[in-house]
Amino acid sequence: MATNPAAAQATQDHRRRQGSLAGLVIKDVLSVWETLDPLRLDATARTWTARVADQIARHRATSQRLSAQYYQRFRGLEIGRDGWSLPRLTDSPAWRAALLVSLLVTGPVRIKRLTGRGMDPRQAADHAAPAVAAATVRQARAAGRAAMLAYLRSDPRALGYMRVTDGDPCAFCAMLASRGAVYLTKSSALTDKGNPEDGYHDGCGCEAEPVYTTTPALPEASRRFAQLYKKHAEGLPAKQARNAFRRAYEADRRAAT
Ligand SMILES: [Zn+2]
Repeated sequence: MATNPAAAQATQDHRRRQGSLAGLVIKDVLSVWETLDPLRLDATARTWTARVADQIARHRATSQRLSAQYYQRFRGLEIGRDGWSLPRLTDSPAWRAALLVSLLVTGPVRIKRLTGRGMDPRQAADHAAPAVAAATVRQARAAGRAAMLAYLRSDPRALGYMRVTDGDPCAFCAMLASRGAVYLTKSSALTDKGNPEDGYHDGCGCEAEPVYTTTPALPEASRRFAQLYKKHAEGLPAKQARNAFRRAYEADRRAAT
């Protein structure tokens, strides 16, 4: 967690803004969902994916801009100004291919599988829609998350980052957050574990917070996850630890509702 309360607040604001952006993505993507005709999937998939890609291109730009604003603000609050400025980023076109695969798998492929089992095509499309929405949100937010990583790597004062979860993370994200800071080794940039660019699943609401100190405090939620881990999973082999944590986390979450 940030050492400065205003910086900690900036992190929460940033996470919420990226979350609101996710809401806009879903609204947009659902507004063109009818372009994909479940009775003529092969004939309509092309137009549909092109429309969604146009929407996602816009939302990616917003997501990246939000990350830039946040990074600058957070850094200033944590360590002050020192003449460093954000590197200029260009969005790699690789996301379009990844988006296309996500769209085809969660959309037409899934609908065909469901209708193949006898489901009505329109009903099958309704079943597919939520996963399509979640996949597009991840592709949009990936731009902001990739920007965070690029800023962290170019920032000579940044030591690493912390995963900050939303209010109701999955067990996997809670466990990653409980580990606290992930320190970047700038020389092995591409092999870092817990890469903030690709460690996010569909439906994930987590963001990264830069770390400028070797003794960062965990955010309150992550502290709770860490206690849970310590009590139920510490010392176990990796896979057993993951399972033990998940069971404890889910029991804890059920008890809280
Ligand atoms: Zn998450």
